[in-house]
Amino acid sequence: PPLYLQRYQFVIDYVKTYRPKKVIDFGCAECCLLKKLRFHRNGIQLLVGVDINSVVLLKRMHTLAPLVSDYLQPSDGPLTIELYQGSVTEREPCTRGFDLVTCVELIEHLELADVERFTEVVFGYMAPGAVIVSTPNAEFNPLLPGLRGFRNYDHKFEWTRAEFQTWANRVCQEHGYSVQFTGVGEANGHWRDVGFCTQIAVFQRINRFMSNAEHLEPSVYRLVYKVVY
Ligand code: SAM
Repeated sequence: PPLYLQRYQFVIDYVKTYRPKKVIDFGCAECCLLKKLRFHRNGIQLLVGVDINSVVLLKRMHTLAPLVSDYLQPSDGPLTIELYQGSVTEREPCTRGFDLVTCVELIEHLELADVERFTEVVFGYMAPGAVIVSTPNAEFNPLLPGLRGFRNYDHKFEWTRAEFQTWANRVCQEHGYSVQFTGVGEANGHWRDVGFCTQIAVFQRINRFMSNAEHLEPSVYRLVYKVVY
């Protein structure tokens, strides 16, 4: 299957194993992953999508609406889906206390200063139980035919495995998480040495403590869609 589907499948498999109840997808764009998670709920009760670009959100958000079959065959308990226009660099009170945050091909679209803000917001402020971050592995790029420069014009950087792991290990030290590295899209033969095409870090919170000092902060996201099954 194409690489983007392998990335979504990675998240679906994670959900199947760890059964988070509250999940946020950051940089959800046209809600493709949310739509898949809605069909592979595995006990999810709240599914939130956030993107800075309301145009991409509006494009396909109606595909999240319940189908007739959802009413005929009620599934496992109520499900709420919410979409917000907002930035992952901003602290939003309603995003705290989630079980899982997914960031699929998001961070490479942020300036490095914003990666720092994002890191502080997600791991410091939201402090979810787990975080999945995927991003291109720059070491794989020589294997991509005809590629010069980055894989997408909007990418601000593409990290080697060492660069990604340096960032992730610092996150763990500063915010009380452990991390495991994996990926999707493997090359053949001796080219395997370059690693996965998409590198993935899976963070798990060690420290159960979460400060509630910021609970009075005002809401900054804008709700654009909500549906309750
Ligand atoms: N996660 C989706 C997927 O894998 O199909 C789409 C990834 S797309 C390459 C990156 C998305 O991140 C875009 O929809 C973009 O609007 C969004 N984005 C960029 N900067 C953002 C920010 N600061 N806050 C929230 N979303 C942002």
